[in-house]
Amino acid sequence: MVTGWHRPTWIEIDRFAIRENIKNEQKKLPKNVAVWAVVKANAYGHGIIEVAKTAKEAGAKGFCVAILDEALALREAGFQDDFILVLGATRKEDANLAAHNNISLTIFREDWLDGVHLETPLKVHLKIDSGMGRLGIRSAEEAEQIEAKIVQTDMFFLEGAYTHFATADQLETSYFEQQLAKFDAILKGLKSRPRFVHAANSAAALLQSQIGFDAVRFGISMYGLTPSSEIKSNLPFKLKPALALYTEMVHVKELVPGDSVSYGATYTATEREWIATLPIGYADGLIRHYSGFQVLVDGKKAPIIGRVCMDQTIIKLPYEFQTGTKVTIIGTDHGNSVTADDAAKYLDTINYEVTCLLTERIPRKYIN
Ligand SMILES: *Cc1c(COP(=O)(O)O)cnc(C)c1O
Repeated sequence: MVTGWHRPTWIEIDRFAIRENIKNEQKKLPKNVAVWAVVKANAYGHGIIEVAKTAKEAGAKGFCVAILDEALALREAGFQDDFILVLGATRKEDANLAAHNNISLTIFREDWLDGVHLETPLKVHLKIDSGMGRLGIRSAEEAEQIEAKIVQTDMFFLEGAYTHFATADQLETSYFEQQLAKFDAILKGLKSRPRFVHAANSAAALLQSQIGFDAVRFGISMYGLTPSSEIKSNLPFKLKPALALYTEMVHVKELVPGDSVSYGATYTATEREWIATLPIGYADGLIRHYSGFQVLVDGKKAPIIGRVCMDQTIIKLPYEFQTGTKVTIIGTDHGNSVTADDAAKYLDTINYEVTCLLTERIPRKYIN
């Protein structure tokens, strides 16, 4: 994708915030529990390479990604010896590529091991489905069989076993407890404990004891965002959001009553009012549902009016501004903030989706 370096729309990523979030999480953990930085999906929209560098500086001991290509991108960027785990399913045909690059893969079917001809050993983590119902084996017998098969070969190495929680971001913990118990029961199928037994996502890493585990998979909260609004007031430390989204007014003008704006002419001025056109649109991830959302100009709320276009958006101003004035879509301006959580609530989604949606057309600038 072409990045718009010559357009005044940009994402600012505060590296200090990422480092703080990781360090605060690490302080909370038993000393031998590693923080793995989850940097899938371009680091939740924050930029995979820079985030990975920052996370490593802050003490992250490895990376989790969703797909093999993301792992390869990290290797290519110079993360030569770092631990990298692919959380999603990988094709058998790509097992050698992973092995040659020392990338750990997730396995969850015994038959995946058949017919894979490795030229060099492959590290695998056994995924256990304790109640998420997505990837993973579901019984101790399966664990036993897969381990037995791996032990027979000298090309697979069972480096880890893990599960994923479906409800760790809820205050009600009974389903979480059930998953934990099921994970334990299935792990008992293994004759020897792998080097890394891990389960926690951000929510569990923040709220639950990690005694007995070797690592946490720290995603959304590394970026300073709460895993859910439900647990926001129960978090053990204050998360620092790393991402801000800014643009600038490229055209400012005054409407008179009866003037309409944007496709469908859905918004019509009823009085004299100042508006500004912004060079950002749904192709940047500012999806059409943002229409009506309030952004900040000079610390004051300014609503998006009319339909969001592919590359442009119009806001109503409280009064006249100069062309070139900065507009904060997500971030803080004069002490007032618009957060990814505000956008998520407005769009009826979650903060994860808000940042992931921001496309690579928007340049990322890294501060601190
Ligand atoms: C994405 C993902 C995580 C990270 O979850 P957060 O809620 O962002 O911390 C952890 N584990 C797995 C398996 C994932 O897919």
